[in-house]
Amino acid sequence: MNNKAHGIGMTSPRTRMRMIERLREQGIKNEAVLAAMYEVPRHLFVDEALASRAYDDVSLPINFNQTISQPYIVARMIEVLLAAGPLKRVLEIGTGCGYQAAVLAQVFPEVYSMERIKPLYERARKTLRDLKIRNVNVRYADGSAGLPESAPFDGIIMAASAPMLSLVLREQLAVGGRMALPIGIDEQCLHLIERDVQGFRESKLEAVKFVPLLSGKA
Ligand code: SAH
Repeated sequence: MNNKAHGIGMTSPRTRMRMIERLREQGIKNEAVLAAMYEVPRHLFVDEALASRAYDDVSLPINFNQTISQPYIVARMIEVLLAAGPLKRVLEIGTGCGYQAAVLAQVFPEVYSMERIKPLYERARKTLRDLKIRNVNVRYADGSAGLPESAPFDGIIMAASAPMLSLVLREQLAVGGRMALPIGIDEQCLHLIERDVQGFRESKLEAVKFVPLLSGKA
């Protein structure tokens, strides 16, 4: 990462370390996830006017009615993916500002991320490029049906909520793969899907709040 990435003042190492300590208090234990969250300069993914709040445990607006997910949920979903050991290729649906993609890029060698809103896609690509993060492949596309041409994935994360699990998407998981996704409209719950040789196993983890998964490009 470049010098800007290391931040000064309100985005100092101390501010970032406080975020890491809070994540530990909230139950995040995976050291690779905590290190990745420390490393990625979250303030560079939000508008300058919001930079001073970037390390608070809140979601923040990123325009077009979308939000950057709160640090806890970003860390939690990645921890869920990693719980059974390292994974190689990961797909994220809903790039938004690119923050979670940048964290994923610290932990997984190969990341694909899809976004349906063109200006968000363009800005995320630029931010990731400026940070010299090269292992994220960002696509401008409706990600509801995943990215079959690059499947299978060892991990899939959805950053937007749908009323039910897409079976087409589930099929893009490799055997041994894991998917973390919110399901629901008003009441949403984080689900984990695990695929093994016998098939799929689904478990419910905790209540969450995501923007809705929408279809088509915008
Ligand atoms: N991962 C982001 C969260 C962004 S919010 C972060 O790091 O904070 C969720 C994003 O999902 C929004 O940008 C929204 O436009 C996008 N989204 C919603 N439906 C989608 C779809 N069908 N395909 C791709 N992206 C979608």
